[in-house]
Amino acid sequence: MSSEVQRVLGPEGTAQARKEAQRAQCASCTGEITDRANVVVTGADGMRVQIWFAHPACMPSAVTELRETSRDPGEAMRMTSLPPLPGGHGRAVLVAELETPQFFADTPQTELTDVLAPYLARHGFEPVSAMATGPPLLERWLAVLTKVAGIEPGGSLLTIVDDQAQVFFTGPVFTPARSRRTALESGECTLYYGQTGLDPTSRDFPTQNRLLEAAARNGHLLGARVPCTDRATLRDAAATP
Ligand SMILES: [Zn+2]
Repeated sequence: MSSEVQRVLGPEGTAQARKEAQRAQCASCTGEITDRANVVVTGADGMRVQIWFAHPACMPSAVTELRETSRDPGEAMRMTSLPPLPGGHGRAVLVAELETPQFFADTPQTELTDVLAPYLARHGFEPVSAMATGPPLLERWLAVLTKVAGIEPGGSLLTIVDDQAQVFFTGPVFTPARSRRTALESGECTLYYGQTGLDPTSRDFPTQNRLLEAAARNGHLLGARVPCTDRATLRDAAATP
């Protein structure tokens, strides 16, 4: 880590950045970081900086000008769909994770905060420490599952909008049959967000469940219940006066 980065983050932020960098994805090549990480800080002119991690060979550790950041977090988000967890609350599960972990820090010298966590907390998401209880229901959010041609079998187009009708996520998602059925029959799914390391294409649900439980235990998970429907139901509802 460059001395300039260490100066901006302060000792606590620097120590936390070292820890968060392990298992993080590289901001440049998206590969996992297992050894040395470079820390890239942007926007050091303001009170708020943004922090990325990269392989030393991919990007130098540096403090740079704030680039125009993506307005659509869905562009950089990975979404995993899981059937109801064994011994859990019985709802279908969606897990969102940023492709590349990104943090904010209020300089000087403070904790690093995940870029999306404050937004989700403001919108009613709560920290999840155990998977058995369902998180709070956010009635004004909506997840829409759509079967469309062109997506591999077992996949759906998923769009999640928040209570301001802003798109939180949109994209093709592998949806196990039981997951899709449970979500549509109950009209609800649970949406978790955090660094979990889940693989959106995996069919190994026991491993996925273990990763999710570990993230909850480590305090890396926020959750909420979100109404869930499919496009045909939405269309019918719109046609009913
Ligand atoms: Zn890399």
